[in-house]
Amino acid sequence: MIFKGSGVLGDQSGVQYCQAMNKGLGVTLNCYAFETDGVLIDTGAHSLRQFFRPFIDQAQPDFVAITHYHEDHTGNAAYCAAKGIPIYMDPLYAEDCNERARYPFYRRLFWGSRPAFSSEKMPETFSSRHFQWRAVQTPGHAADHVSLLNESTGQLFSGDLFVSVKQKVALREENIPETIRSLETILEYDFGEMFCCHAGYVKDGKKKIKEKLEFLTDLTGNVSHLVHQGLSADEIQQELFPKRYPISRFSRGEWDSKHIISSILTDIG
Ligand SMILES: [Zn+2]
Repeated sequence: MIFKGSGVLGDQSGVQYCQAMNKGLGVTLNCYAFETDGVLIDTGAHSLRQFFRPFIDQAQPDFVAITHYHEDHTGNAAYCAAKGIPIYMDPLYAEDCNERARYPFYRRLFWGSRPAFSSEKMPETFSSRHFQWRAVQTPGHAADHVSLLNESTGQLFSGDLFVSVKQKVALREENIPETIRSLETILEYDFGEMFCCHAGYVKDGKKKIKEKLEFLTDLTGNVSHLVHQGLSADEIQQELFPKRYPISRFSRGEWDSKHIISSILTDIG
């Protein structure tokens, strides 16, 4: 076995969670799924199904709300669908999810091969057993990304909008200027606690979102400054992100700091 999987179940402020991680090749990747008031938010990775399936079985959700199509969020959606649990997600990549996922080998290795599933269109607002919810469009990390706000409790389920304050690498498909706009959008709403699919429970979510916004705004300013000094994209990367990360090597550049720089440069024009 290349990877060693492990999982933890827990409960925080009325939210049940399953955190599972895969360790191997010098890297640890972890992801969360959450359940509250009959809503399952994301389904974890297929490679970690031995942890997520019992969590789903025990939670018995009324429906599933998916934050975005990535395989560490949709890996067990087919399992839910087979149990008759309705799945809601943004329609942008819903059709792609009707087929078995095609993505690079390293992602299949870490997260498994996401089985096909069908979903229904995520409504802008919906209710669960006791609570009112809003799905806020927050693209950037992925074009179909939504954040799920429990408006009754002020808890935000932020998918991969947050992950960390000081972002060092991005996926090739990520759009940092769009992430900045999404962070601004989400800050217009009332929320406190945040549940992030990789960082887990964040007590003061709004503060952390503000910190991330500040980090990316400063970064954009720095990129803009350096490009006006005549530096190339590579030189800007050397200057701002001199370190190479293992994930960049693994993913053959699908994860890299250069995607942060290039998406900012595209936006600057
Ligand atoms: Zn993602």
